[in-house]
Amino acid sequence: MVEERLDALVVILDEIRLGRSRSRREIGIRTGLSRAIIAQRIGELVERDLVSETLTGPSTGGRPPKQLAFRATAGHLLVADLGATSIDVALTDLAGRTLDHFAEAADIAAGPEAILGRVEQLFSRLVTTTSNVEGRLWGVGVGIPGPVEFRTGRPISPPIMPGWDGYPIRSRFAAAYHAPVWVDNDVNALALGEWRSGIAEGHDNVVFIKVGTGIGAGLISDRQLHRGAQGSAGDVGHIQVTDDKRVVCRCGNVGCLEAVAGGEALARFGAAAARGGRSELLRAALDRAGTLTAEDVGRAAAFGDPVAVELLQTAGQQIGAMLAGVVNLFNPSLIVIGGGVAYSGDQLLASIRETVYRRSLPLATRDLSIQRSSLGELGGVIGVAAMVVDQLFARETIGRWIEFGTPAGKPEIAEDDLTVAVAASA
Ligand SMILES: [Zn+2]
Repeated sequence: MVEERLDALVVILDEIRLGRSRSRREIGIRTGLSRAIIAQRIGELVERDLVSETLTGPSTGGRPPKQLAFRATAGHLLVADLGATSIDVALTDLAGRTLDHFAEAADIAAGPEAILGRVEQLFSRLVTTTSNVEGRLWGVGVGIPGPVEFRTGRPISPPIMPGWDGYPIRSRFAAAYHAPVWVDNDVNALALGEWRSGIAEGHDNVVFIKVGTGIGAGLISDRQLHRGAQGSAGDVGHIQVTDDKRVVCRCGNVGCLEAVAGGEALARFGAAAARGGRSELLRAALDRAGTLTAEDVGRAAAFGDPVAVELLQTAGQQIGAMLAGVVNLFNPSLIVIGGGVAYSGDQLLASIRETVYRRSLPLATRDLSIQRSSLGELGGVIGVAAMVVDQLFARETIGRWIEFGTPAGKPEIAEDDLTVAVAASA
């Protein structure tokens, strides 16, 4: 497809797909494209079944305007969000809306064969149990709790994923499903989900920070997910915050933020307090389950346990100090706090807020808002679906499949190496 034709097609499809314009007239006003070009590109989109145009718009006296809508049911997506201790899968439409989902406990350290084999089983189950799965499979997405080389869809030295280094997740799923596959870091996906359909909608510069077992950040910079040169941007959990040689992180370094303020650290400090007889509530939780989690610390804090409150406040101060640096460097208008630990009571959020406002420059915090994540437990799969949708409809990808009307059956369009796709569409 000629460049200008493709440019206009992508702009118009985005207008309709993202709900910004509902009629040809609105598209004209918002994009400045001519009526003839808009008519031609909409004709192509309707012909390819990506857009519908119906006479349902409100009448303004004369002929009622035709209403444009994206056909999100033209195909479906399968997405998986892999956590340190969980697998979440979902089947979604092309707008990233979840049609059905399923979650179960799993240990990521079991390795790629076991975990991805299980994901394949759960995908099959979803396809059979979801009613009205429409269209063909247009794409597969996987979020993992570690660094990903986005270009190749492979994990790179992930600290908590033994056996996964360099594993070709994309190739495996592309062969199994014959559809394009994208793999991303779970926090990047969460940031995208929050930006596309959560609390960060409408913000151009956003920091999403996940405080779970570990700590990581996803950055929306000038309305783009910022992955960085190799895809490791946002790995803020391994910023050094103390010189204390006793604080050894699971990444092998000393003094990392997540080793003092992540969920695992909170659980460890909580257990020490329980054993040392400093907290009855934590002692009781420890006795009940045999181990203590960050959630137990959160629950104890919610009941006013002074030790638990102090642990969350200290973690919040350390995370806040790191974020103040990020705020000075990056100047976001919104920071979203997510991850399991973020949902455990208000102390952590309050302490992060207080520290960020106190330690950042006044200009950077003048319009800065710090909020809790809005997507809840489905945030992971919603984020991965948003990531796949963004890739499918990105200009460089859409150019590889629009002539065929669908990316289904075309796994090569996700590959970074253009030669295959260009040859196919020439
Ligand atoms: Zn570390």
